[in-house]
Amino acid sequence: MAKNIQAIRGMHDILPEQSPRWQQLEQTIKSILAGYGYSEIRMPILEKTDLFCRSIGEVTDIVEKEMYTFEDRNGDSLTLRPEGTASCVRACLENGLLHNQTQKLWYSGPMFRHERPQKGRYRQFHQFGVETFGLAGPDIDAELIFMTARLWQELGLDGIRLEINSLGSSEARAAYREQLVEYLSAHGDLLDEDSQRRLHTNPLRILDSKNPDMQAMIEKAPRLLEHLDEESRQHFERLKALLDAAGIEYTINTRLVRGLDYYCKTVFEWVTDRLGAQGTVCAGGRFDGLVEQLGGRATPASGFAMGIERLVSLLEESGAAIPAQRPHAYLVMSGEEAELRGMQLAEQCRNQVPGLQLVVNCGAGSIKSQFKRADKSGAAWALILGEDELAANMIAVKDLRGTSEQQVFAQAGLADWLQAIVEKTA
Ligand code: ATP
Ligand code: MG
Repeated sequence: MAKNIQAIRGMHDILPEQSPRWQQLEQTIKSILAGYGYSEIRMPILEKTDLFCRSIGEVTDIVEKEMYTFEDRNGDSLTLRPEGTASCVRACLENGLLHNQTQKLWYSGPMFRHERPQKGRYRQFHQFGVETFGLAGPDIDAELIFMTARLWQELGLDGIRLEINSLGSSEARAAYREQLVEYLSAHGDLLDEDSQRRLHTNPLRILDSKNPDMQAMIEKAPRLLEHLDEESRQHFERLKALLDAAGIEYTINTRLVRGLDYYCKTVFEWVTDRLGAQGTVCAGGRFDGLVEQLGGRATPASGFAMGIERLVSLLEESGAAIPAQRPHAYLVMSGEEAELRGMQLAEQCRNQVPGLQLVVNCGAGSIKSQFKRADKSGAAWALILGEDELAANMIAVKDLRGTSEQQVFAQAGLADWLQAIVEKTA
């Protein structure tokens, strides 16, 4: 026999037993976003490669080594999106959504990065992203953080801590960059290979290095936060005041620089110790320069993205119950005639009872085996259409989870009976 084809390394199926957890998470996020007035935008998964090179930056990990890039049949270079922000800005520009207006948007879906697969790090993973446009103040940065804090609370997740930093204006960063390169060059012998390479391309990223041999040296490096321009400093102060007023705890991490080039002023991450090395569940910040960089008018922007797989792991780890699927009823039928009438009756009930969750036994089988399936389905009630019931235009109902007696009544009354069940469980 030929060997079965397997999924691509680092890309996973989400199986029926796991999907209720995903749905619960997605629904909670969506309802919070709706509660703050954000609207959904959906973008294609494929984009022109140039979009990511121009937005994320040529010397970032993503563009240098993580993108799934290929030529399509026309010879155009396309890339499976590694993140959503670039596509979102492209879509907004292309559709005139940034002209004299503000936007509060969210998107969700798969992202693709060719990284080394490990727990919490996959080649296809899923993000929920939020982007705002046209709002320059720290108020919106704070709102983004409030929304995520509310999400952890609603999901019952604790132990996720907030780290914030400010990267300042691009001018302040350029001036700081020179100082940093000077400092790092003076300690060139301590720099590992990655950092040597980054010294002149993306020196701020060196601050983010996890290499233990470099920590002491990095600790003493000049700090960007101490070289902020006045406007960025005030922005950061106000953000802190807004967080304080809302009772949101944070730590200032002066080494938080984020992997992407387009950030300025506020950056933040929500981090947990419970997921091992892959502890960042949500990351974001301000990217005032990106819209202009992609050909639009200068437009302030701020956003974040969260990793759904990591949040699902956290939910699993915290022992939160998986919402169970509980159909209202399962229809058991004995024989071909009963099947004919039963399937007809089920459709009539669906027409009449909004919200009805009714599983019809498919694949025949003995009454005993049908009852086993009914039990496994999680249904509260079994509806039974045996030969006797069929002949008398009746239907029997049996409480699968309780102890009440089996009842029999006219088929004509089934829809009303189910309606009452649906209302009772709503
Ligand atoms: P990391 O430092 O972990 O590589 P990143 O800075 O590359 O993260 P972002 O681009 O900011 O990550 O993506 C936002 C969030 O998406 C991350 O905080 C994380 O939760 C999730 N994420 C990023 N890459 C992956 C991946 N390969 N697999 C699973 N989740 C991921
Ligand atoms: Mg990464």
